[in-house]
Amino acid sequence: MTAVLLAEDDEAIAAPLSRALGREGYTVTVELTGPAALGRALAGEHDLLILDLGLPGMDGLEVCRQVRASGRDLPVLMLTARADEVDFVVGLDAGADDYVGKPFRLAELLARVRALLRRAAPTDDPVVEVGDIRLEPAARRVLVSGAEVALANKEYELLKVLLERAGQVVERETILREVWGDADLRGSKTLDMHMSWLRRKLGDDRTGRIATVRGVGFRFNVD
Ligand code: CA
Repeated sequence: MTAVLLAEDDEAIAAPLSRALGREGYTVTVELTGPAALGRALAGEHDLLILDLGLPGMDGLEVCRQVRASGRDLPVLMLTARADEVDFVVGLDAGADDYVGKPFRLAELLARVRALLRRAAPTDDPVVEVGDIRLEPAARRVLVSGAEVALANKEYELLKVLLERAGQVVERETILREVWGDADLRGSKTLDMHMSWLRRKLGDDRTGRIATVRGVGFRFNVD
């Protein structure tokens, strides 16, 4: 049974969302404050955390940071009311895996939940090694020159798509479809934003292994 932890203090959101998740077959625990949500998350009994950014006691960003600091690989889907909070939420700082802006459609949120759970499931995809970068799908981890680099979910997926086609140009549309499940983000800055975070974490602003092929996509250079 898949267990979802829902940290949301707004009853008008928590109640229908928790019913919808229940209908999908998930068991749902609702927590109303940041500290309570953190305690639950650290207890390790849940498969996914849906985390409101604005929680009493401790905000969602801090809850997320502390979950990440504990080393748990619990997927975190952040609920945020303001578009300008998004960079923050999925950026280098907090380590959330995905976000949904409020107000959201239930169907959209449930699709994101399914996608996160699917990505968290065990995989037998082979290890990919290109130059000094090693990506291990089973452990879902990335090593650069033998040292682990912590990547957020989208950054990991991005890198995986590029590494699996190392030396070739991967079109933006292919990346959007494979990483976001949606080529409609075509005109948006989402991909570029995540790419710049990935480059920073890999130290690629120095090494330049990920080449931008203007107007087309990206290529992971093989030497
Ligand atoms: Ca709230």
